[in-house]
Amino acid sequence: MNSPGVVIWLTGVPASGKSTIATAVEDILRTRGLPVENLDADEVRANLSPNLGYTDEARDENTKRLAWMARMLSQYGVNVIVAAVSPLRSHRDRARQWCPNFVEVFVDCPIEVCQERDPKGLYARAARGEVKDIAGLHIPYEPPNGAEVHLCTDRADVQACVQMVIDMVIELGYIPS
Ligand code: ADP
Repeated sequence: MNSPGVVIWLTGVPASGKSTIATAVEDILRTRGLPVENLDADEVRANLSPNLGYTDEARDENTKRLAWMARMLSQYGVNVIVAAVSPLRSHRDRARQWCPNFVEVFVDCPIEVCQERDPKGLYARAARGEVKDIAGLHIPYEPPNGAEVHLCTDRADVQACVQMVIDMVIELGYIPS
């Protein structure tokens, strides 16, 4: 049996930079010849459970499914990256309990900067009153207490953030240096 892969769990409010960093970390692992799967919460939701919705229960269910998939893949040696708002500590703590080589990455960015960036137009829709449940704006986002990596994406550029993630995963011994 392979040793378990790393599970890199990126959490943060919308537009903080999770998907951008996830894709870049995925590229680096792939280039190194390591097996890797990038589970983007929006894509998993769209493909597996498009009708799930965004109630508290639905968010809990979505993060549960992501954690379960991460566990399944990682136990066969696949390195897994999860990019999910996962606003509650309980969401991330469950994933940590289920996945042995777990690296929580707090993708931190002030909400005003996220509103400016707005790559997916979500905050514009909120400004028009079409969306009323954005974590960090309308509903609580609980910042991690003990994340292995804390990125301030308004101050460090993408490359520096990605490097911090890779360095920590190497330091923890989850991928070779
Ligand atoms: P999320 O997945 O958290 O919703 P995205 O990755 O889709 O966020 O969007 C983040 C936006 O912020 C992108 O347009 C990205 O280019 C930009 N950005 C600026 N600086 C950074 C950084 N240091 N890390 C990640 N994204 C950044």
